[in-house]
Amino acid sequence: NSLKDKDLVHLKELGAGNYGSVLKVFHVPLQKTMARKIVSIDSKLTTQTQIIRELRIMHECRSPHIVEFYGAYLRSNNTVVLCMEYCNCGSVDKLANMLSDKAFPLSVLKVLLFSILSGLYYLYDTHKIIHRDIKPSNVLMTHRGEFKLCDFGVSRELTNSVALADTFVGTSTYMSPERIQGNMYSIKSDVWSTGLMLYELASGLSPWSDPEAGHLTGIRSSKVIGPEGILDLLQRIVNEQSPSLLNKEDQFTKKIFDSDMCRFIDKCLVKDEEHRLSPQDLLQDPFLESVAIGTFDKEVKCWAKLIRKQLKEDN
Ligand code: ATP
Ligand code: MG
Repeated sequence: NSLKDKDLVHLKELGAGNYGSVLKVFHVPLQKTMARKIVSIDSKLTTQTQIIRELRIMHECRSPHIVEFYGAYLRSNNTVVLCMEYCNCGSVDKLANMLSDKAFPLSVLKVLLFSILSGLYYLYDTHKIIHRDIKPSNVLMTHRGEFKLCDFGVSRELTNSVALADTFVGTSTYMSPERIQGNMYSIKSDVWSTGLMLYELASGLSPWSDPEAGHLTGIRSSKVIGPEGILDLLQRIVNEQSPSLLNKEDQFTKKIFDSDMCRFIDKCLVKDEEHRLSPQDLLQDPFLESVAIGTFDKEVKCWAKLIRKQLKEDN
């Protein structure tokens, strides 16, 4: 493909992660808005070959639940420039911050969950890959209120998800117990991360926050966990019982959380990977039945419109 620096006009910075930055750009010849991500890579030949393989898979992904990939090019200084579909409403971590003291509507959470699981199923079923980095900043919302996965990687090179590096720089961790223990990593580890994310979005609380602490923690606070905190946290994920929202009270509405949702989260957060369900199984769960037939489409579309207004993004 023929994407190149000189065709891209920079519009604004969308955010910076631990490994690179993302810009909203306009591709002049194609008259198309895109998101451009720069990732630095290892100069070893083997990694380069791996990356090319990975880019090919990304190019072949076609799913309404996966962010569209337009192309990539290498720069001389060991960086690769990736161009992908620009998602107007941004990532879910930002949405959560915008809501600040409101919960995500249950309909939105259901559609979000259905989209993540469908995306995971697609990646595995069609391309035999697992995502490896499910977290709120890697789930994006389009102007129509669709949720799509981005930043999945076949190798670790493009995903930024080298376990240890991630652990020590990240602000929170979505890693499954089996992954922390260095065991086999499967698609079910992504289910764990999805469950944790849902817990956090539904409650506004970090699953691992101190129950005594009355204030907001997790994605809605900027509190960064330092290296000392991280080791303690990893130990808790492995040794403690899984977090659950069942019979707990919503800090905003003071009502008990929807019990079907709580049970669904519990299914994702089964500690023993062998007994945890796969995305395919979870998609059959009665909790998501109504999503599959489009029950919430209109509602979520309206919600996306409100978000866009707040963000001043027009289409
Ligand atoms: P990490 O580096 O730990 O993966 P991250 O996912 O936040 O963290 P990036 O992947 O570099 O870091 O993304 C930075 C931000 O850019 C994201 O949080 C998201 O809000 C925004 N972003 C990324 N891709 C897109 C896109 N295609 N459309 C719109 N916004 C995007
Ligand atoms: Mg990301």
